[in-house]
Amino acid sequence: MEQSADVVREVESQCRERGLRLTPTRRRVLEMVIAADGPVKAYDLLDQLKSEQPKAAPPTIYRALDFLLANHFIHRLESLNAFVSCFHPSHMHQGQFLICERCQTVIEIHEPSLQKGLAAIAERNQFKPSRQVLEIYGTCSSCRRQ
Ligand SMILES: [Zn+2]
Ligand SMILES: [Zn+2]
Repeated sequence: MEQSADVVREVESQCRERGLRLTPTRRRVLEMVIAADGPVKAYDLLDQLKSEQPKAAPPTIYRALDFLLANHFIHRLESLNAFVSCFHPSHMHQGQFLICERCQTVIEIHEPSLQKGLAAIAERNQFKPSRQVLEIYGTCSSCRRQ
């Protein structure tokens, strides 16, 4: 994917702006999530990292993923227990996704009005959300054509 170098560059500049430390491992994990080009599980990332850093252990991956998640540089798909890269890492946002059940293609949607609506609902219920992932399952356009 051509956008991937841009995403890494954007994350780098975000880290500089926000005073965050993008360590080589965090950066490498980010690159691996982007390169997966779809949902990827933590243990697949660990296997990949181990081939480059034999000493890598589960906490290495989880710490890197936590950093990337906490700063909204990647998203976690709750139902698949997998991670996807984010194509607008420059502003904090909650994940909203269309997920194809046939080919597992994940489309990140970006709909601020949806976000506002959900925030308003939570507030009406005096509920303070800690995280929120909207996952819509179905069939993508290319699978529907088949
Ligand atoms: Zn995103
Ligand atoms: Zn599909």
